[in-house]
Amino acid sequence: MQRLGKNVGRYLGDTIDIRQTLPDILDAALKNGWASQTFHESNGLEHFALTRFASEDEAFDIPGVKNVYLSAGIHGDEPAGPLAALRLLQENQWPENLNLWFCPCMNPVGFTLNTRENDRGIDLNREYKNPVAAEIKAHIDWLEQQPKFDLCVLLHEDWESHGFYLYEQNPEGRRSLAEPMIEAVSQVCPIDPNEIIEGRPAQNGIIRPNFDIKSRPQWPEAFYLILNKTRQSYTLEAPSDYPVSTRVDALVTAVRTAIGLISK
Ligand SMILES: [Zn+2]
Repeated sequence: MQRLGKNVGRYLGDTIDIRQTLPDILDAALKNGWASQTFHESNGLEHFALTRFASEDEAFDIPGVKNVYLSAGIHGDEPAGPLAALRLLQENQWPENLNLWFCPCMNPVGFTLNTRENDRGIDLNREYKNPVAAEIKAHIDWLEQQPKFDLCVLLHEDWESHGFYLYEQNPEGRRSLAEPMIEAVSQVCPIDPNEIIEGRPAQNGIIRPNFDIKSRPQWPEAFYLILNKTRQSYTLEAPSDYPVSTRVDALVTAVRTAIGLISK
């Protein structure tokens, strides 16, 4: 598969019109029985969370039913995340025994600017320890009202990477979903072969951070989740130097693999 060679110093690939993508996401969700809750609004753009429950009474503590949280679009120069959300919602193939929470675009204004940060230059994915940004304060308030999740999957891209890779946080040593995700994604997208990715040891596209995250001065969403909401979390990184369709395929394939396994 040919790399595009477009990204010099930053992401310079395809962009999306988020003012069109967001209504498309919402339409697909509502048409397929999801509920939507707006937890923040800025610049005329809604930050919404979608939910879909296994049972009509919306119980989240049913034996055999797993709670899964998905999020995308916290970096406005990573269009594959919201596009993967759109495709997952349009295709509407979810295991029956899952309760699902999905924040499909956490930084809509960033997409209007094609910037990683929001319109005030804040990297929202460093805001989960001492949040300043109103959208992350609102997101944390919303998260606090939700139950614990059995699995969290966060959709990202990396404009510098040589292939798909992921971070696994699995402090209790539960059945890892990392290798099956990599195996499945390798059918549709190159995997980053490097033994050091983003300065961290990696093996076959898998990074398993082993530092004390509480001591870190800035927390991404994944740190907040593993400390407060879940015991198993994956951050997916699609390689931005490949076509956007390949990156969407990679993210969709990884999510499908993870939710398929967690539901069994
Ligand atoms: Zn990102």
